[in-house]
Amino acid sequence: MVSAMSLLWFNQNIPRMSFIMWMAIKGKLPTLERIAAYRPLVVTSCPLCHGPPESIDHLFFKCSEAIWRQIIRKCRVVGIPRSWHLLIPWASSSWNGKSARSVVKRLCLAASVYFIWKERNCRIFRNSFCPLL
Ligand SMILES: [Zn+2]
Repeated sequence: MVSAMSLLWFNQNIPRMSFIMWMAIKGKLPTLERIAAYRPLVVTSCPLCHGPPESIDHLFFKCSEAIWRQIIRKCRVVGIPRSWHLLIPWASSSWNGKSARSVVKRLCLAASVYFIWKERNCRIFRNSFCPLL
């Protein structure tokens, strides 16, 4: 099995995007679901869709399904797994080469995670809204 680190640290990476991706992979981003574990009165509904509790899997996969569909189509990806926790090991083993196509797929994944997290933070902390697509 290839390490998830191959998705993060490569010559063409964008460090701020790789850092957020690394935090997401490690489950260390302060999602509302995590914050509610020690602050029970926090409203946990997802700030993007106002639906289910904001977890890593919901925020970066289920809630962002339209984004993933665009990436899948533009990068010509097939057989993508159906959850965040399956996506990372799958992408690590599938996109680990040095080809331009592999690098672009890793950059798209990191950029998607980065901009989803950035938009989530804008909605929570600045009360501003930017369409994700
Ligand atoms: Zn959502």
